[in-house]
Amino acid sequence: MNIPMLDLKEQYQTLKYDINAALEEVMASSQFILGQNVKKLEKDVANLSNVSHGVGVANGSDALHLSLLACGVEPGDEVIVPTFTFFATAGAVSRIGATPVFADIDPKTFNIDPQSIKARVTERTKAIIPVHLYGQAADMDSINEIAQKNGLSVVEDAAQAIGSEYRGRHVGELGDMACYSFFPTKNLGAYGDAGMIVSDQESLAEKSRVLRVHGSKPKYHHHVLGYNSRLDEMQAAILNVKFEYLNQWNELRRQKAEQYNSLINEKLADVIQTPYEDDNNYHIYHQYTIRVPRRDELQAFLKEKGVASMIYYPIPLHLQPVFKDLGYKKGDFPKAEEACDEVISLPMFPELQQDQQEYVVKQLEAFFLR
Ligand SMILES: *Cc1c(COP(=O)(O)O)cnc(C)c1O
Repeated sequence: MNIPMLDLKEQYQTLKYDINAALEEVMASSQFILGQNVKKLEKDVANLSNVSHGVGVANGSDALHLSLLACGVEPGDEVIVPTFTFFATAGAVSRIGATPVFADIDPKTFNIDPQSIKARVTERTKAIIPVHLYGQAADMDSINEIAQKNGLSVVEDAAQAIGSEYRGRHVGELGDMACYSFFPTKNLGAYGDAGMIVSDQESLAEKSRVLRVHGSKPKYHHHVLGYNSRLDEMQAAILNVKFEYLNQWNELRRQKAEQYNSLINEKLADVIQTPYEDDNNYHIYHQYTIRVPRRDELQAFLKEKGVASMIYYPIPLHLQPVFKDLGYKKGDFPKAEEACDEVISLPMFPELQQDQQEYVVKQLEAFFLR
């Protein structure tokens, strides 16, 4: 049996008629930049996030970059980010000339640890970027309390968490601004790069809208330095078709996660730590990530058996060569470093079949119990 991390081909076969029709409509209208499709998606994603504004941008990384600029982050400022995340979270900070200040994680949820944030706040701190890693919201109440006390902006990195919930509220409404990625492998994926900023604050949304069109407002009048970072109309047309299925897909992912949990815990509860879902959260399982001993050996074994797996993430950001001038060393964030050595993500997508999951877990058993 061969089991991929995710299978986008099957999804396309199901939606082919609607997606092709939507693309033909864009081409027939020849409105390729910031047209009706982008407007519709902005409205729908803002509604889903329970906020009033959506601003489509070129990708999730730009969403973070422009959000920080809109919040007034400047060169020399500090922004606190988890060290256990995708590179873009910290890259966005450095692109401004500001300094990413890393914090450790809660080893249960893999999300940024509010205690670690508290210890890292200085006079120069301007913002915090909590990441809702693997699809589960960070401890936002504690984070917002720290932000309020210290006058900091909060930009949610919700790239992996569209549709996720926290204490009955939605990801996207939990900070000042939030950033989504529609990279093809995300829970709501385009057929190329795309992203969105959402916010309930008109002034922050408006600043983002101006920044994505070269800082131009009105047209050809430039008061700030902006970028060319727009969400493409063709991608928006595809995303509008897929948007209708997002909740259903997220619910299916949750079912697959539960299925993995019960299969794994039958015989492997002592060796494998299945994902922890906080009672306050509605986790959408962008990734199904377990902790295991002998992780690299296991990955090689699975590969031999036709089971794909991924390591998100093998190296914490504070130990990345590009950040070596920041002066961090091994041992600075032990929880994150341990996670980097132990995590492995298993195949997870809404179309994943029961027999595929059984096969995956059988291989885990073969490796650990042989
Ligand atoms: C995917 C991702 C991003 C960046 O999104 P792109 O659209 O690929 O630029 C940022 N942060 C996290 C946590 C991500 O997973």
